[in-house]
Amino acid sequence: MTDILDAPPEPPAIHFPGYLPEPCLLTPEQVTEYPNAMELSKELQEQLGDRSRWQAAGSALDSSYEVAPDEFYGGHLSIAPGWKVGGWTRWGLTDPRPRICSECGTEAVPLLTIDTTEWGFGGEGWIPEEEQANPTPMLPGQPPANFTRIVVASGYNLRLHVCPASPDHPHIELIQ
Ligand SMILES: [Zn+2]
Repeated sequence: MTDILDAPPEPPAIHFPGYLPEPCLLTPEQVTEYPNAMELSKELQEQLGDRSRWQAAGSALDSSYEVAPDEFYGGHLSIAPGWKVGGWTRWGLTDPRPRICSECGTEAVPLLTIDTTEWGFGGEGWIPEEEQANPTPMLPGQPPANFTRIVVASGYNLRLHVCPASPDHPHIELIQ
């Protein structure tokens, strides 16, 4: 039988500001997102830049997308911000690169994203409706939508990738 500790041990992260999450309400929801435009074919990338295609599809492109309609895709349709399970890989610090399992050579897939904020500037379209109607009060000095108070690499996100062949194979970490 194992002795029960009087007090739970402090997590190692307590000594690293921004690494220990604040207790907060978890309200997951399923969303649809699409790959980063850099992971699409050249043909699809060109179609994203064709304003007439967006208009034909009935999309609400306002005048701010006159010059670069493909930015609508990046801001509203591809890669939801915030903490998430699954989804597509976010790129930004680097261009896309292979995430190959070191054990078996299989392409690893996104498992978990730990993000600094649930949404950022330009990503307001991802804000849940209930949060738009009744915003959560934030502490002074806290970045917007930084509910967990986790800060990854001064404001980025950490994504763990898992090998689809076996969960026992090493995870791949990626900061973007
Ligand atoms: Zn593997």
